[in-house]
Amino acid sequence: TAFQIPGLSSAMLDNLKTLGFEAPTPIQEVTVPAVLEGRDVIAMARTGSGKTAAFGIGMVERLDVKRFSVQGLVLCPTRELADQVASALRELARARHNIKILTLCGGTPLGPQIGSLSHGAHIVVGTPGRIQDHLDKGTLSLDRVQMLVLDEADRMLDMGFQEAVESIVSRCPEHRQTLLFSATWPDQIRKLSGRYQRDPVSLTV
Ligand code: AMP
Repeated sequence: TAFQIPGLSSAMLDNLKTLGFEAPTPIQEVTVPAVLEGRDVIAMARTGSGKTAAFGIGMVERLDVKRFSVQGLVLCPTRELADQVASALRELARARHNIKILTLCGGTPLGPQIGSLSHGAHIVVGTPGRIQDHLDKGTLSLDRVQMLVLDEADRMLDMGFQEAVESIVSRCPEHRQTLLFSATWPDQIRKLSGRYQRDPVSLTV
């Protein structure tokens, strides 16, 4: 039996099988179809729920690999999470050829990141401060972002990234998909959702 979600490519189904994903987790059951339909999603979910694949499966499936521009942007509160997300996305991306995923976090030199950016990427995963640095320097363009993910959004706000997140979102096209994941659901998160999302599918796992 395959992963019971309609609309997935056979390459993705094979890949999920190889990864040992036999059935979708509850968050994936709701989020993957919503992402494939182009809907916004707000999910109250923790690490361990399968949230990375919940947005990653659809992100990989929807990418236009021939268009060499940043189409997916994932903002994470920490470098550790960004590395984890990027490696999970790389596993999912084995379902398709030549998807390039770049991690942009602080604490590492800018030069090599600028070099990598000049070669192009389909997905960027990073922390708000460093993404903002690249936007300020003009070394990263978000003009073609179709899918924006705010991962562990409550932690990003707790860590003081609100301004950076707002400025980054303002550089993304208005017509995009916005997926928001948060372990808690304080007022600030509701406000972010209200400002950045359109008729989101909302769930708690
Ligand atoms: P996450 O909540 O995204 O940090 O994922 C937690 C762990 O669950 C990761 O090691 C994933 O590889 C794994 N995982 C995610 N989805 C599935 C699934 N449908 N079946 C089995 N393992 C999964």
